[in-house]
Amino acid sequence: MLNVPSQSFPAPSSQQRVASGGRSKVPLKQGRSLMDWIRLTKSGKDLTGLKGRLIEVTEEELKKHNKKDDCWICIRGFVYNVSPYMEYHPGGEDELMRAAGSDGTDLFDQVHRWVNYESMLKECLVGRMAVKSAVPKGMLPKSQPTNPLAKESPVSPSYDWFQTDSLVTIVIYTKQKDINLDSVIVDYQDDSFRAETIIKDYSYLIYIGLSHEIQEDFSVQVVENVGKIEIVLKKTENTSWTCLGHPLENHNLLIPKKDTGLYYRKCQLISKEDVTHDTKLFCLMLPPSTHLQVPIGQHVYLKLTITGTEIVKPYTPVSNSLLSEFKEPVLPNNKYIYFLIKIYPAGLFTPELDHLQIGDFVSVSSPEGNFKISQFQELEDLFLLAAGTGFTPMVKILNYALTNIPTLRKVKLMFFNKTEDDIIWRSQLEKLAFKDKRFDIEFVLSAPTSEWNGKQGHISPALLSEFLKRSLDKSKVLICICGPMPFTEQGIRLLHDLNFSKDEIHSFTT
Ligand code: FAD
Ligand code: NAD
Repeated sequence: MLNVPSQSFPAPSSQQRVASGGRSKVPLKQGRSLMDWIRLTKSGKDLTGLKGRLIEVTEEELKKHNKKDDCWICIRGFVYNVSPYMEYHPGGEDELMRAAGSDGTDLFDQVHRWVNYESMLKECLVGRMAVKSAVPKGMLPKSQPTNPLAKESPVSPSYDWFQTDSLVTIVIYTKQKDINLDSVIVDYQDDSFRAETIIKDYSYLIYIGLSHEIQEDFSVQVVENVGKIEIVLKKTENTSWTCLGHPLENHNLLIPKKDTGLYYRKCQLISKEDVTHDTKLFCLMLPPSTHLQVPIGQHVYLKLTITGTEIVKPYTPVSNSLLSEFKEPVLPNNKYIYFLIKIYPAGLFTPELDHLQIGDFVSVSSPEGNFKISQFQELEDLFLLAAGTGFTPMVKILNYALTNIPTLRKVKLMFFNKTEDDIIWRSQLEKLAFKDKRFDIEFVLSAPTSEWNGKQGHISPALLSEFLKRSLDKSKVLICICGPMPFTEQGIRLLHDLNFSKDEIHSFTT
């Protein structure tokens, strides 16, 4: 819904077509970009018509405000007057009107739950819902079902704690098998301890205001076969704790992941290196009091405050180089997260990111995404179709596939770029292809110079049918595709035309 600057939007090649996961965008009028909206919200204009008052809104009242020039929408118990925002909404007025006079939380979550609407719409806040919807999702008391499909949810984990003179150990019994170090994200910030365990599409949270201080660093161990997670905290003082602390929001609850908010921690910029003329490798360091490993194929959100408004954009972590991965696996408790990020000079977020100095901070969310490592099971042929920075999810996938899938016969990357200068990590890719017989790379340029004698053009049936040859008649195939949304959409259509099934295709969008 938010976050998209525009004039005649979207430009044919604008990456913004991707930002909302393929939903159509409408052309916005001149002067209706995100920056223009931010300016309006800072102008002091009364955007709710309530002269700064906040009111309690009943369902009956909400229903009355269902017209374009008088449109209220409830999101997670808070009601916003979105009429002034209508013309700035990149998804168009009609899309907003779908939630007019009603609770738009589900609609919002389906489209872009990561968008920071609280910050973007704060001047449009009318008040809270007076009745049921005032309780945000996931804050229901433990005894009430939090999800109508509760029967399908995993068995709720439980936790326990014990102590020695110097240590406090928190043990989470997930009662699940497929738990590993990626599954748990731990943070200690402002005396609050937070451990989120991801179990399928659910999140189990331990969230406690600790009764005593602890040291910044802690250890996290997982006993995979029994699904037990042990977090060992170091006391600052060797005193006996009578209780662990007081519960905070959603503590000890298992809730659908889609109903949880994004949680951020501040990470420090450690280095920034040029990779191509417009793409850089950024290295961020997690705080010592965070345990977070981004699973393969998942992305995080980076957040910066730009002219007083929090702006959030998704980015896919990579490894620090392609070849290093083949020397040693990444340390399990790696504190560094790397990103390959293209700087768009006229973009909203990336120029700000580029202006950060080494040592500055960026907020990084917990990981999101629906890629499952189980998609690699028994895989024989892996085809990667990447365009521009759509290469980023392929980096870890490539590494994982070549090192961890015993059945793998072939990995082929078709990498679409405008010019040779745009190709990210070209020499590393070529070296890898030289070193590993299973890996082939094909570059395709859409705007090459006359010297280019490789493949040319956009994604097409001819290019794909030649490229996507199975190594055996019935070999198990996975095709991953990522790039600008028109590229991905067209690619998926062509793959279906070539008779690849849904299960054989994974597309990266939000
Ligand atoms: P924007 O402000 O969004 O602008 C981008 C471009 O569009 C600019 O060239 C701008 O001039 C143009 N534009 C904007 N408005 C208009 C207009 N009205 N008319 C014409 N043109 C316009 N990117 C990476 O580099 N690396 C990653 O690892 C990465 N991972 C991603 C993961 C996911 C799941 C998704 C969905 C996207 C990912 N992206 C990644 C893209 C990233 O999220 C941002 O969209 C991108 O960095 C651009 O942000 P921006 O705010 O700087 O630019
Ligand atoms: P770009 O503009 O440099 O284009 C790269 C190539 O994409 C082009 O050479 C062309 O072959 C193809 N392409 C571009 N527009 C096309 C169109 N309209 N139809 C068919 N093919 C087209 O790419 P970029 O600026 O690096 O943008 C990369 C995109 O990938 C961004 O939109 C970004 O949001 C997206 N991305 C998504 C994820 C994800 O996980 N969803 C991750 C990283 C990047």
